[in-house]
Formats: sequence, C-alpha cells, structure tokens
Amino acid sequence: MRYCQGTRCHTYDTKDRKKGSKDNKRNETRKRTDFYYGNNNFCSLQCQTDWFNTHGDNAINYFGRVEQPIVLTEDNAWQVVYNRNCHDSNYNRIESVPQWIERNSITKEERECEQ
Ligand SMILES: [Zn+2]
Repeated sequence: MRYCQGTRCHTYDTKDRKKGSKDNKRNETRKRTDFYYGNNNFCSLQCQTDWFNTHGDNAINYFGRVEQPIVLTEDNAWQVVYNRNCHDSNYNRIESVPQWIERNSITKEERECEQ
C-alpha cells in the first residue's frame, strides 16, 4: 500500500478519506495499492496538479530547467509507426509486409525497423 503524494489529498471531502469515529473524526490522504496518475503516485489528476503547484518549480530547478530548445534533427527523428501498407483494401493483413516500420519525422523517409 502507498499514499497518494498529493499535497491537498486530505482536504477533498469524500467518504473514503474519512477516518476515525465521533471524537477523532478526520480526513486522511488516500492509501491504495495502485494509483492511475503520475506514474502510480497520485489518486487523481487534481492531486497531481496540487503536487506540481506546490513542488513543480523546485523540482524543475533541481533536475534542470530547459533553457534552450531541445532539437529534433534528422539523426534522432526516427519513430516506429504503423505501416499502412501491411493490409489490402479489404483490410486483410498482408503477412509478407511488416506491420511496423520506422519513419523519420523530419525527412519523412521510411525504413524497416532496426529490431
Ligand atoms: Zn490524492
């Protein structure tokens, strides 16, 4: 079990966050085995946004702020994409044609997958 990392998770008033009885009623951060947001760290997009609003600037400064454009050039623009030619007009798969190919998003060249 893990806790949601949202900095305001405990402030959202839902049944599952309510703990304790009469004299020690409280709301707590959500605890679950799996979360669907932020790489399994947040119970909701709101909690992910709350975390970013609290810590985002510090995290970016710590890990390295982008200070100039990150550039995509011919050399690093190869992406694996679905090969539209791997089926005929009736959408039957043509086994001899690879289902995935690599396409260069700068030059638009295509080639077989390197794998
Ligand atoms: Zn949460």
